[in-house]
Amino acid sequence: MAIKADPNFKKEISMMPGGENLLQCYLCGTCTAGCPVSEIDDTYSPRTIMRLALIGSRKELLSSPEIWKCSQCHVCVAHCPQDARPADVIRVLRNLAVKEGYITPETACRFDRVEEEIRSMRISMIKRTIEAEFAETEEE
Ligand code: SF4
Ligand code: SF4
Repeated sequence: MAIKADPNFKKEISMMPGGENLLQCYLCGTCTAGCPVSEIDDTYSPRTIMRLALIGSRKELLSSPEIWKCSQCHVCVAHCPQDARPADVIRVLRNLAVKEGYITPETACRFDRVEEEIRSMRISMIKRTIEAEFAETEEE
């Protein structure tokens, strides 16, 4: 059965904070080319997310795990030639997914905590490595 498109979806997104520039996307794929998540997961593509938002695949997008794979690093925002801000569009889609009951607020919070834990692990690893390197230099 074909999935029914919602012709108002792109307008709705573009009226929300973060989604204002969705319509500027011309689907060039630069965001996917530079995305660190796409690099390790070839099923993930911010360009595809932007395309589905533009064609009104509301249910398909809001029920998809893809919108939760993004790490919100904003590399795509820096690279996008159209300033379409895919990371922010994804944030809008996540908020809609919670609001419309595709995912519970508790699960969304759990995903946010994963990002916090990854950032904190990264800083700890960097600190430990630098401390070890300084300790070695002092011993020499
Ligand atoms: S969001 Fe930007 S970089 Fe990504 S496909 Fe659209 S225009 Fe290209
Ligand atoms: S913000 Fe998300 S979509 Fe954009 S580059 Fe980072 S992981 Fe990829």
